[in-house]
Amino acid sequence: MLGTMMRYPLTLNSLLERVGQLFPSVEVVARIPGKSVLRTSYGEAHRRARALAEMLQKAGLRRGDRVATLMWNQHVHLEAYLGVPAAGGVLHTLNLRLAPQELAYIVNHAQDRVLIVDDVLLSLYESFAAQVKLERVLVVRLSGAPVPAGCEDYEEFIREASGDFQYPDLDENEAAGMCYTSGTTGTPKGVVYSHRALVLHAMNFALPDVCCISQQDVVMALAPMFHVNAHGVPLTAVMTGAKLVFPGRYLDPESVLELFESEQVTFASAVPTVWLGILQALESQPGRWKLAPGMHGMAGGSALPESLLRGLDRQGIPMTHCWGMTETTPIVTASNLKSYMRDWPEDRRYEMRARQGRPSPFMEIRTMAGDDSAPWDGATPGELQVKGPWVAASYYNMPQGGERWSSDGWLRTGDVANIDPEGYVKIVDRIKDLIKSGGEWISSVDLENAIVAHPDVREAAVIAVSHPKWQERPLAVVVPREGAQLNTSTLRAFLAPKFASWQLPDAFVFVEQLPHTSTGKLLKAALRKQYRDWVWEKIS
Ligand code: ADP
Repeated sequence: MLGTMMRYPLTLNSLLERVGQLFPSVEVVARIPGKSVLRTSYGEAHRRARALAEMLQKAGLRRGDRVATLMWNQHVHLEAYLGVPAAGGVLHTLNLRLAPQELAYIVNHAQDRVLIVDDVLLSLYESFAAQVKLERVLVVRLSGAPVPAGCEDYEEFIREASGDFQYPDLDENEAAGMCYTSGTTGTPKGVVYSHRALVLHAMNFALPDVCCISQQDVVMALAPMFHVNAHGVPLTAVMTGAKLVFPGRYLDPESVLELFESEQVTFASAVPTVWLGILQALESQPGRWKLAPGMHGMAGGSALPESLLRGLDRQGIPMTHCWGMTETTPIVTASNLKSYMRDWPEDRRYEMRARQGRPSPFMEIRTMAGDDSAPWDGATPGELQVKGPWVAASYYNMPQGGERWSSDGWLRTGDVANIDPEGYVKIVDRIKDLIKSGGEWISSVDLENAIVAHPDVREAAVIAVSHPKWQERPLAVVVPREGAQLNTSTLRAFLAPKFASWQLPDAFVFVEQLPHTSTGKLLKAALRKQYRDWVWEKIS
């Protein structure tokens, strides 16, 4: 073999050193308890992350040991994102919206040794403390609460650091992070991210054709840092040296918009429900917030309805629609247009941008209909399968999870999709959410997207309910906008031009709110349970 390049591992430690060396004065801004805004910098993040790494090593952390966080999005969480992997440890972000018994299960399953917890979340920790065995609990006292017995003050812990921390000699395939799936589809499963996967994901995220992040940006980590690395935003900001803004626990649209304006945020990433709240605030109070020119965003985690995409365009926040999952770090596809599509008619362009997009470099995609891969014709549905350098190869300590991977090495996503001739994916549904009516499939996602395009609808979920003749039929559960008068015949008439009549929901139920998962997705399992005994009025 010819001699080629140096063997240089892709690790987060390179990113940490780089940001400390090149961008020490760039601001890191965080909303802290009490809602005040704290200004710190990448120089501080670098120093404190290294201090954390040094002290974790001195406390006996070994390579691959898990350090959990139970924290809101803020600057100390960034230190953990960087400092735990720097020590050779694995950062395990805990979802603070889970129930105590779920958290206990996850902490025990992951065998976490240390926990870093925000003092405002101490009561949550205490609700499962007796069920877990943690060696150290470090309390971040941003609200000034006293440190409970058995816990330590995070500041005092890192203050002991001498500053002469030496990075371990890490292999790029070693573990750096860990996240459990949010359990929408059963028991939470642990996914372990390698340094290499996180670095490559950050490089990909920043690409102009993905989320287009450069050092010039002001980036807000709006998606929770406990959910798939906040979509990849914090590490991408560190890699590029872009100013980073954290909203803390103040996630209502007005607080977020206030911070968009005051920090002149140019990029944020969130699930569509969060963007919907932001759009509604912008529409109801025109001119109240002066957003940064050129602001853009990413929406992913569930399908971005075309009406929301259009609405955010009108407000000057164009979205890139991405698809991914906990198992894929998360981003696999992004929906930016190809150069020649810019000349396409407007409706066609929106149709493409509302798709989940084309795969990133190194990501391979296919849809499988039975044993055959489906053609890229924009119509034939099949299970979406993916492979690539930031796709997990297994679940942590879960041998029975193996069926998720095909025998030829692809991740079976559990999503039904079609791929069009341009290579753009459209997620039709999760397999278990598809409505099987008389031998045909109806996409709940298509119906939901069409229903929320009605100006009087705030949110909608469509679920399968069993039917004596057709096996299953669609039931729409709709949240009207405040003060709006909606009824079944209006909505059926609104949908009729877009669907065959057998695809239309047979009934519409109007409710005040819908159940969501801990990560802001519709909780269809709960709805299916609630409407299990639904009786169809007229059986046709
Ligand atoms: P959970 O499986 O617990 O919801 P994940 O965050 O890993 O946790 O969810 C991944 C799933 O979310 C995907 O398999 C897909 O069903 C859905 N999803 C993610 N992004 C999109 C998107 N842009 N459009 C439609 N569905 C999406």
